[in-house]
Amino acid sequence: MKKYLLQIVLFFIVFSGVFFFFHGNRKKDLSDSDQSAPSFAALSVQGKTMGTVWSARVFSGDLSWNEDRIRKIIQDTLDHVDRLMSTYKEDSELSRFNQWKSTEWFPVSPEMLFVLDRALEISKKSEGAFDITVGPVVNLWKFGPDKQPLAEIPSEETIQAILRKVGYQKLEIRREDPPAVRKTEPDLYVDLSAIAKGYAVDQATEALKKEKITDFMVEVGGEIRCAGQKSLSPPQKGRSPWILGIEEPRIAGSDRDVVLYRTLPLSDRSLATSGDYRNYRKIGKNRFSHLIDPRTGRPVEFLSENEKEGDKKRLGSVSVVLDSCTDADAWATAFFVLGPERGVEIADKYGIPVLFLRRIGGSEAQKIESIPSKNFSY
Ligand code: ADP
Ligand code: MG
Repeated sequence: MKKYLLQIVLFFIVFSGVFFFFHGNRKKDLSDSDQSAPSFAALSVQGKTMGTVWSARVFSGDLSWNEDRIRKIIQDTLDHVDRLMSTYKEDSELSRFNQWKSTEWFPVSPEMLFVLDRALEISKKSEGAFDITVGPVVNLWKFGPDKQPLAEIPSEETIQAILRKVGYQKLEIRREDPPAVRKTEPDLYVDLSAIAKGYAVDQATEALKKEKITDFMVEVGGEIRCAGQKSLSPPQKGRSPWILGIEEPRIAGSDRDVVLYRTLPLSDRSLATSGDYRNYRKIGKNRFSHLIDPRTGRPVEFLSENEKEGDKKRLGSVSVVLDSCTDADAWATAFFVLGPERGVEIADKYGIPVLFLRRIGGSEAQKIESIPSKNFSY
């Protein structure tokens, strides 16, 4: 339920960002122009996929495009990715690989190979903070497909036993003849939840571009890609960047208002955000983030019984801007695990634009501290 709310809110933010832009330019570009220039279409479509919601906003000069046609292109593309990469569907390609308890090569689709390749590269560059084999630990903390309540905090012994079957180094890929993947540990379990949504967005982008649609924004569960620019309606000529919003990572009830921390003007870029402020678990007074540090087998920064919320600075969200939404999605998770100190060093090493937002103080008088990497110049 929390997850669902998160998606709805992100969905809203995306649109409020876009709407904000619209609104701000209303006098200039939307006044009479819709009637005076009927050859211009702006469409909004949305749907459900991968256990979350997606949405898109498309500008097209071709009026033969209607909502149903665009919705179907996007929905079919996203559903295809879901059929390959879901751990919730027992017959997905990924689930079949997870059920396959052998160390022999397992042939995979080119799509799967591409995502595994990106995931392994980001695992190495992030020093193991991103790890798609962390699934058993995710399930141990009850964030996986078998969502049961977490009865008690797992013991260090249990964590260590599970960690022996975790590690991206235990996964090998073969690029051709035919593309295949193998595990050196038969019980290895691969979870693409932190990268597949971004990949689905990239695939939807390709599908729209193939249809010669060049100006659009598409989003799955809050991971967004903007292509081209927002066109100003005729008779005005000209285009403007898309404006997207980053939410303040405040902890409060799930019914709290969404407050935008800031907006970003983006053209031909992806924006992915990972945060702990909506998707978390509680046992007693402890709060657990759904992002796991694969190096310790524990959720990233959680509040323990002995700490008061105001005691410490806490990372609230991480936003990454890159061309590829696949990479932005994975890096947002990686940087959340790395934290701002090591995270900024690694971001600067690879020239990645990232913004860390940290909460300071208790929920009453929370302040938000912003820590950008060098390349985050928005
Ligand atoms: P969200 O789905 O909330 O946008 P992410 O894209 O960051 O968040 O993906 C979160 C999911 O990724 C978790 O629910 C879990 O299945 C998986 N995961 C958790 N920690 C890691 C990690 N360190 N590396 C890779 N995947 C992770
Ligand atoms: Mg992610």
